[in-house]
Amino acid sequence: MNVDLHCHSTASDGALFPRDVVRRAAAQGVEMLALTDHDQLDGLAEAREAAHEAGIAFIDGVEISVSWRGVTLHVVGLGVDARHPALNGGLEQVRSGRIERAREMGHGLEQAGIAGSFEGALALAKNPAMVSRTHFARYLARCGRVADTKDAFRHFLVPGKPGYVPHRWAQLAHALRWIGDAGGQAVLAHPGRYALSAGAMGSLLVEFREAGGAAIEVVTGSHSPDQYALFGALAVQHGLAASRGSDFHGPDEGAELGSLPALDARLRPVWAGWRD
Ligand code: AMP
Ligand code: MN
Ligand code: MN
Ligand code: MN
Repeated sequence: MNVDLHCHSTASDGALFPRDVVRRAAAQGVEMLALTDHDQLDGLAEAREAAHEAGIAFIDGVEISVSWRGVTLHVVGLGVDARHPALNGGLEQVRSGRIERAREMGHGLEQAGIAGSFEGALALAKNPAMVSRTHFARYLARCGRVADTKDAFRHFLVPGKPGYVPHRWAQLAHALRWIGDAGGQAVLAHPGRYALSAGAMGSLLVEFREAGGAAIEVVTGSHSPDQYALFGALAVQHGLAASRGSDFHGPDEGAELGSLPALDARLRPVWAGWRD
């Protein structure tokens, strides 16, 4: 089965409306899709309806921003009840600092000679409460300051660069509790993207599992084939299930929906045992 359990819509930093993400997924052959917008559940109702029309299985999801030992991590919640008060309250808290952070990012970029980026990024965000580095990257690419969004991150939006503003997101234990309380399963997103030593990654996986985490993303748009093998082995070693998700944000921005390799048959898929 073609399963894609990680993607974004205009409810956070994706380029397509929720219904269009779902239609595109169906056209790409995806049979089970989770929409996982950052810190936000607003796209789920529209996506679910579109999935029903397209005849594909749909999982309510979210991707929560977490700060752990000073590093930003992303935790995907799958199969959550989107109306659950603890989850909604928690996500509201996580979202609350974004506009101020974006304003500071704009100041930083102004000092580097780029005026108007806060307004520019905000204008590109369909949901202003979710203005993100992705919107700044798209703005910088559109006004020709960089060749593309990857370049924008490299030169302006990562630690040490003028548009980067550190931020305190949710605590790991809290994010896992909100997901669990809402009846979902927690998946550590794209572990290969975190700047952690092997030892720190081991501690993270132990802590994640002990706090109720269910799975890690093994096949994701930001992993190389070597990382599929590495994180597959770590999933087995830590008794965690494995997930597959493109982390699609839009056409021509990273991986396509439903296009990545299948999980290795020796791994336990996080969706084993789900009913639709
Ligand atoms: P934020 O939550 O505002 O810090 O934005 C994080 C988002 O930026 C991620 O969800 C990705 O969509 C995007 N992102 C982060 N790092 C990169 C990168 N190096 N290249 C492209 N997109 C990135
Ligand atoms: Mn994103
Ligand atoms: Mn992520
Ligand atoms: Mn994502």
